[in-house]
Amino acid sequence: MQPTTILIVDDEPANIEVLAAVLEHYDVRFALTGREGLLRARFAPLPDLILLDVMLPDLDGYAVCSELKGDPTTAEIPVIFVTALSDPRSEARGLEIGAVDYISKPFSPAIVRARVRNHLEIKRSRALLQKLAVTDSLTGLYNRRHFDQAIEYEAHRHLRRELPLSLVLLDVDHFKRYNDFYGHPAGDDCLRRVAAAIASALKRPADVAARIGGEEFACLLPETDQVGALAVAELIREAISALAIPHASSEVSDIVTASLGVASLAGSDQSGAARLCQLADTNLYRAKSNGRNRVEGNG
Ligand SMILES: [Mg+2]
Repeated sequence: MQPTTILIVDDEPANIEVLAAVLEHYDVRFALTGREGLLRARFAPLPDLILLDVMLPDLDGYAVCSELKGDPTTAEIPVIFVTALSDPRSEARGLEIGAVDYISKPFSPAIVRARVRNHLEIKRSRALLQKLAVTDSLTGLYNRRHFDQAIEYEAHRHLRRELPLSLVLLDVDHFKRYNDFYGHPAGDDCLRRVAAAIASALKRPADVAARIGGEEFACLLPETDQVGALAVAELIREAISALAIPHASSEVSDIVTASLGVASLAGSDQSGAARLCQLADTNLYRAKSNGRNRVEGNG
């Protein structure tokens, strides 16, 4: 696990020294001006939390905070103002522009430590909830909800940038029979292994693999044309066969196999996400009616 990083932005080295001593269990970075703070806030790995002085020589703390909150890269980093301005109006202003808390100077080390710990804990819980909200609990792939959002997002990006976009839909062949024959726990295990095989065949971070139904999976492949998508689909099919999971009640084979339908939108194609799904679904249907354990696309 990466160490927790805290960025302290303060123009008085003495303050930085005291805060760094209070937060010695964390990996502490610091900046002496607002601009330097903005720069360091964007260094990878991103800080987990920022302690921000309001009175700085160049940009004031409010301007720095507004800029951090307006940038998608840094918007999620909690900011705590550390300031001698402890009137309610200043506090309200800081909280309105997105700070999570306020610590007044002179500060008590115990309070700084406790507030930092609390906000780091809130941030961790929120990140975990966000991950759970998009994850299929059985397989660890993305879930249907995330897939629906991702395909809309990618379809818009495809239109704007005129890049190809492809979709692979996949059904495990005769999965109901597998469940009936081997039982549901074995069925779940089979789906987990198929999911891992799908994930292993996708090489790019932008590819989205999701479980969208019982034994239905989808892979969204941005910036991929039909030729590329057919190759990926074939890799997935082979990876599933290579698992060699026995399937005594399949008509297709004595192991678990899958049927795959591929569809692509060329960069100039404006027909959209719904049309892409429809095409892939038609091709999946064709893969099934042509004997299963195969990939069908257009071309
Ligand atoms: Mg200051």
